[in-house]
Amino acid sequence: MSRNQEKILTCLRQAMEPMSAYAILDRVRNAGISHPPTVYRALNDLMQKGMVHRLQSRSAFVACDHGACDGKLAFAICRRCDKVVEIPLSDEDQAGLLGLAPDEISPEQVTLEIAGLCVVCSPTEPA
Ligand SMILES: [Zn+2]
Ligand SMILES: [Zn+2]
Repeated sequence: MSRNQEKILTCLRQAMEPMSAYAILDRVRNAGISHPPTVYRALNDLMQKGMVHRLQSRSAFVACDHGACDGKLAFAICRRCDKVVEIPLSDEDQAGLLGLAPDEISPEQVTLEIAGLCVVCSPTEPA
């Protein structure tokens, strides 16, 4: 892993929340990374390794919960605090979702993001 990739991965792991490329750039600037293309290149490399994932709905990035994975996954996102939980998908899950595509579109990939409230943000039930 290059030094830039390492810095950006560390930054995402410490953030514990999804970060946009610009938020990442802001954070790593004092580590000597100051050009957006450098950040995008490192993010792309990390995504190819499965160590960073992109949240399509927010154009934001998160570090993989498991270190790295093969990209068969969904996300559950707390809409209040932005907590993100990675949900591994089985081959069958993935195939089932891709199978929803209509005949005129041949499916290649699926993005699944579930929004809701986490335990901390859920209103407590009356006793
Ligand atoms: Zn992952
Ligand atoms: Zn929450």
